[in-house]
Amino acid sequence: MAARSISVFKTLKPAPADPILSLTTSFLNDPAPHSHKINLGVGAYRTDAGKPWVLPSVQEAERRIIEDSSLNHEYIPILGTPKFVQLVQGFLFDNSAHGNTSKLLSQGRIVTGQGISGTGSLRVLGEFVLNGTSTKKISIPNPSWANHEAIFHNAGLEVVKYSYYDRETQGLHLGKLLEDLRALSPGDAVLLNVCCHNPTGIDPTAEEWEQILAIVEERQLLPLFDMAYQGFSTGLVEDLSVLDKVSQMVDNGKIGNMLLAQSFAKNMGLYGERVGSFSVVTASDSESRTVASQLKRTVRAMYSSPPCYGSKIVEKILEDDALRGQWSEEVSIMRDRLKNMRQLLYDRLVALGCHGPGKDTTGWGHLISQQGMFCFTGLTAEQVGRLQQASVYMTANGRMSVAGITPANVGRLAEEIASVMV
Ligand code: PMP
Repeated sequence: MAARSISVFKTLKPAPADPILSLTTSFLNDPAPHSHKINLGVGAYRTDAGKPWVLPSVQEAERRIIEDSSLNHEYIPILGTPKFVQLVQGFLFDNSAHGNTSKLLSQGRIVTGQGISGTGSLRVLGEFVLNGTSTKKISIPNPSWANHEAIFHNAGLEVVKYSYYDRETQGLHLGKLLEDLRALSPGDAVLLNVCCHNPTGIDPTAEEWEQILAIVEERQLLPLFDMAYQGFSTGLVEDLSVLDKVSQMVDNGKIGNMLLAQSFAKNMGLYGERVGSFSVVTASDSESRTVASQLKRTVRAMYSSPPCYGSKIVEKILEDDALRGQWSEEVSIMRDRLKNMRQLLYDRLVALGCHGPGKDTTGWGHLISQQGMFCFTGLTAEQVGRLQQASVYMTANGRMSVAGITPANVGRLAEEIASVMV
C-alpha cells in the first residue's frame, strides 16, 4: 500500500549559512598547511601563539568552586542567584573608584538578571521592550553585529537602522547618525554599543557621545546598551564611562530609563559558558518590582532559569578583591596584545610602502585608532576574496578579528594585504 503521509517539512528551504561560521568551515577545509593559513574571522581571543586562553583567574575560581562543598547543581532563581545579581550590579553600576555618583542602586531603581550571555540578554530585553513599553521599534547601527537584527526581529520588534560608518573617512558618520536618531519617535529604543563597536571598531569620542546623548534626551529615546567588550578599549572600569553618564542622566531626570545587556564571554573568556546579564533602570523601587516580575515571566517561558556554572565563576571572581584585581590585570594583557597587533600590522604595511583606503597620510590610520577585537580594514569584498585565495580569511565586509594576528603571521598578512591593494 502506498504511504499516504507527507512530510510537513516538504517545502522547507534551507536557512542561509551564518557567514562567520561558514568562513571557519572554509578555513578548516582549506588544504594549505595549517601554519600557512590565517583565520581572522571568529571574534574570540587568541594568544600570541594563536591559542585560546583560559584566564588564570578563571582557573582559580574553578578550583574554588570544586572545593566549595556548599555548592550544588540545583536550579537557580529565574533572574539568577541574589549573590550574582548583587555582585554584578555593583560591578556595573557602583564604581565609586570611577567617581560614579549614581544613586540609582541605593534607590532600588535597577533590576538585574543573569542572562544567557550577551545574546540571550539582548533577546530578553527585546521581548521586554515589546511587551513592557509602548514602542515596537528599535534602531540599530549600520553596520551592526549581524545577529542584532535577527535577535530583535525574532523578539517581535521592528528593526530600523541609523547611519554609523563612513566609508569615505573610515570613521564615524556623526552628522548622519544624529540626523537618523532625530527622526525617531519618543520612546523608541536605540541600540548603542558601550565600546569596541562590532564590526567597525569605531567608537564615538567623548564629545561625540555628548552630541548623541543630547539627541537621546531631546527625543526621549530609550537607550539599550550592548556591552560585549568591556575592558577591551581602556579598562574594565574606564569603559563604563558612557554608562555612568547615562545613569546620571536618569538620576537627574533628563531621561526616564535605560537598558543594558552585558556579556562575560570575551572579558572572562567564558564564551561557551554563556554568562552575562540584563539590567533595566526604572523610575522607582515599586516600578522595579513590577519590571522584575515581567522579566521573570519572559524568562520563565523562554528557558525557565539560567545556567549556573559560568555564573559561579563570575561570583568567585567578583566576590574576592584580590582575584578581581588579578582578572583585571589579565584583561589588560588581552587588551594590550590586541593593540600591539594593530600597531605591528600598521608598521608592516607602512614599511612595505602600501597605501591604505583611509584619508590619513598612510591610509591605514584607522587600524590603530579603532578599538577592541575588530578592525574594519576598508578592503573591498573583491580584495577579501583574493586574500582568501592566499589562505587569509576575513568576512566579506573587510572585518578582521585582530585576535587572529600573531607575531608569527603578521609579516605575511601585511604582504598579502599589500598584494591585493595594487
Ligand atoms: N554583542 C556584540 C556586539 C557582539 O559582538 C557579541 C558577540 N560576538 C555579542 C553581543 C554576544 O555575545 P555572547 O552571546 O557570546 O555573549
